[in-house]
Amino acid sequence: MSDHSPTFIDAKRKRWTNWHENFSNSIDQLLDIWNCEPEHSTIANYNGTSRGIQALAGRAIAENKTLRALGGGWSLSPIATASGILLNTRPLNYRFKLKHDHMHASFKGKVDDLAFVQCGMSVADINKYLRGRGKSLRSCGASNGQTIVGALSTGTHGSALDEGAINDQVVAMHIITGPDSSVWLERASRPVTKDSLAAALGAELKRDDDLFNAAVVSFGNFGIIHSVVLEETDLFYLQAYRVKRPLDEGMWKAIDQLDFSNINLPKGPGRRPFYFQTVINPFDTDGGVFTTVMYKDDLKDPSCAPLESGGKIVEGDGAAEIISVITDMVSEVTSDVTRLLVNSFYPEYQGRCGTLSEVFTDTTTRGRVLSAAMGVPLGQARKAVEICLREVKRFEAPVVLATRYARQTQATLGFTKFGPQTCILEVDGPQSRRVKSLYNRIWKALDKAGIDYTFHWGKINNLNATNVRRHYGEENVKAWIKARREILPTREQRAIFSNGFIDELNMSD
Ligand SMILES: Cc1cc2nc3c(=O)[nH]c(=O)nc-3n(C[C@H](O)[C@H](O)[C@H](O)COP(=O)(O)OP(=O)(O)OC[C@H]3O[C@@H](n4cnc5c(N)ncnc54)[C@H](O)[C@@H]3O)c2cc1C
Repeated sequence: MSDHSPTFIDAKRKRWTNWHENFSNSIDQLLDIWNCEPEHSTIANYNGTSRGIQALAGRAIAENKTLRALGGGWSLSPIATASGILLNTRPLNYRFKLKHDHMHASFKGKVDDLAFVQCGMSVADINKYLRGRGKSLRSCGASNGQTIVGALSTGTHGSALDEGAINDQVVAMHIITGPDSSVWLERASRPVTKDSLAAALGAELKRDDDLFNAAVVSFGNFGIIHSVVLEETDLFYLQAYRVKRPLDEGMWKAIDQLDFSNINLPKGPGRRPFYFQTVINPFDTDGGVFTTVMYKDDLKDPSCAPLESGGKIVEGDGAAEIISVITDMVSEVTSDVTRLLVNSFYPEYQGRCGTLSEVFTDTTTRGRVLSAAMGVPLGQARKAVEICLREVKRFEAPVVLATRYARQTQATLGFTKFGPQTCILEVDGPQSRRVKSLYNRIWKALDKAGIDYTFHWGKINNLNATNVRRHYGEENVKAWIKARREILPTREQRAIFSNGFIDELNMSD
């Protein structure tokens, strides 16, 4: 194909349903987009795909329809969809190695740590690709079937204590913004590539911290992010343990403050693990807390047992994965079923070894699951967990709680906004009115107790125009809207890249 045009395949669907089937809506069209030569990552083909997406933006404007990029469709909130054209970006999997020639004179990082990847590559595939280069993502979520841009657009995180969410690993972005425009965005405080790279991609170069920090968590509303440059690290190994520990004062200090001085973890008290996650069964707190800890090594420890594969629950899994497996098995999930099954599906294990991609795989749990995750500052985490436990027990809703942690994000509307670390408190259960009612009770109780919290953009939340400003800060919301107007300067551009969700938040124009 001489003009390197992508192929669009009409899925001929008028409805779209998300991965966990907790909502569906009518759409005008669902299009899969394929690079001209899917197996050949060339700049000419990449530019052909950019032009194809730009033409689609032109069509959306002409027909007065929305145009929304779809990642893996894993989000449980309605951010991934809109009523117009949905563009399935998953087939877009080009990857490029940047060379010294591409780098800005002031870039002080290691060129080998950079990966220039197209938006549709899954997090799991990026991890495999990096592994082949002796590199690794710094941190990632539990299951990794999301696309890289779908994941970072909502602030997807793992539980590595001193690493940020996936969006914090991004150092440059290429965004298609309209029928004849695109932007190559970097931070002014940290230029990465030479101006000539943006020019070769036909993009306008913008170096601006405020624009970058707003766009990097923008849940589909800044245009179609065609590619990102990730800054990663050398391959490392994790020694992973899952042990049950009592919910005593030592454990509460770990949960609340990441203070490990009074908790007996596998490598001794006081040693700060690389990764720390708790899973709490509210109906069996006397039985202890499932504590997953991982220690980081540059080399594989010869004494480590290899990871076993094929289990339904793998080493890095958390509460949502447990509930997914349970909902796949039984027709009604009650608090009794949860109590019984969590223990059998979530076994303890000792010292398993693997790279990040071996520990956190691309498991494809489906199940009729609901998941809500709130970002809470350290120092308020214990109170927030206690409130959740109280509400769950009062209401007898069959959920599992988890706490995970991420370093504070730089993203304007990143939900891991609290420093130095944000505790992410997750409440996961089967799809039911009971669990939804529980969420409302929990949010009311957290508000009443004056807990400062945010919501994961890709999970169940109760955001509206008023409380989005309360949870994320009036100034941050204003800064995000201002940045969006700069990236998408015309009303027509902003209209195609919006949806009902941000209309309701009063953030779409
Ligand atoms: C089984 C499961 C496990 C999960 N585990 C975790 C976890 O461990 N940690 C965590 O934080 N979250 C987790 N989540 C939540 C999930 O990571 C987020 O909802 C994530 O955003 C989903 O990514 P996706 O690729 O499916 O994107 P989608 O849900 O399809 O889209 C997410 C957003 O990204 C936008 N988008 C996608 N591609 C583009 C593009 N090219 N340009 C512009 N915008 C784009 C969409 O419009 C949408 O607004 C999990 C969810 C599930 C179902």
